[in-house]
Amino acid sequence: MKTATEHVKCLIIGSGPAGYTAAIYAARADLSPVMYTGIVPGGQLTQTTEVENFPGYPEGTQGTAMMDDLQKQAERFGTQVRFGYASKVDFSGAKHLVEIDENHVISADVVIIATGASAKWLGLPSEQKYNGFGVSACAVCDGFFFKNQDVAIVGAGDTAAEEATYLAKLCKKVYLLVRRDEFRASKAMQNRVMNTPNIEILYQTETKEIVGDGKNVTGVLVYNNQTKTETTLSVTGFFVAIGHQPNTDIFKDVLNMDESGYLITQANSTHTNVAGVFACGDVQDKIYRQAITAAGSGCMAALDAERYLAAKEYGN
Ligand code: NDP
Repeated sequence: MKTATEHVKCLIIGSGPAGYTAAIYAARADLSPVMYTGIVPGGQLTQTTEVENFPGYPEGTQGTAMMDDLQKQAERFGTQVRFGYASKVDFSGAKHLVEIDENHVISADVVIIATGASAKWLGLPSEQKYNGFGVSACAVCDGFFFKNQDVAIVGAGDTAAEEATYLAKLCKKVYLLVRRDEFRASKAMQNRVMNTPNIEILYQTETKEIVGDGKNVTGVLVYNNQTKTETTLSVTGFFVAIGHQPNTDIFKDVLNMDESGYLITQANSTHTNVAGVFACGDVQDKIYRQAITAAGSGCMAALDAERYLAAKEYGN
């Protein structure tokens, strides 16, 4: 790692709801936060369209508009928001070192990690084409738009099982597309799916293409590996629930993480295993993954950071 060319009190990595909320609280606590946005400023919410479940927006809002508002709110209290990404970290010394854009290094008294997670996608061009227009990676966020309609969801883990049952409460019919002849989800979750009458499980079924009218999803073309036949299911919504990837590559061998790569924080806090380094939002949460829960943990991270610095200053 090169020598640091700048020192800041509080460095925030990532600009989703967790990062911005941490920035608002840290700025108001005089920690003079500097935020690096990452490659996708605003994070996952900028990939969706309408957000209707974030408290305080009675008419709903667009994901990008909400992230713009959060940025303005963070800047209003003095957060420096900079475009750039963290490419390497060294948390072994008294000051925490973070390399930015692979070309310069910043040192910080405290670091708040809010790098989020990325939904895994099937990788079909039609999936990207209709993303936000019938294709979604979050049933809790977007299921409501498909009330009383027929939808399909792909995946066979706990997320797919949970989201399929969530969708079944709202939608007329839910096709659950399972690529093998069995689930990966826990038995309890599987039972819940199997006991929901309006979920039809299609085993050995691969998604070939999302079908649309150029504007919105109208169906999904699936292939049955056993019968070797293709069918088009008539659906208006297509949900992808094949897992998420936490954005933690640069923290490998530095911070404690679970077997899926999610950062581990100490109970009831945002402290990582390195003093002065905190984690909030989806990068440490594979269960809830909501904008509002991310924002809540961003607030916790800023409060933890402030208390950590105060304790250091006053020597307790
Ligand atoms: P998982 O990695 O557990 O499951 C992903 C699923 O997607 C697998 O069944 C996999 O199929 C399937 N899949 C992957 N790629 C494709 C593809 N290209 N086409 C079709 N299917 C595909 O991810 P989850 O998000 O479900 O769960 C992640 C973790 O979070 C797990 O540990 C889970 O237990 C936990 N979790 C816990 C919850 C809870 O406790 N309430 C809720 C949600 C998640 P295959 O099985 O064939 O590999």
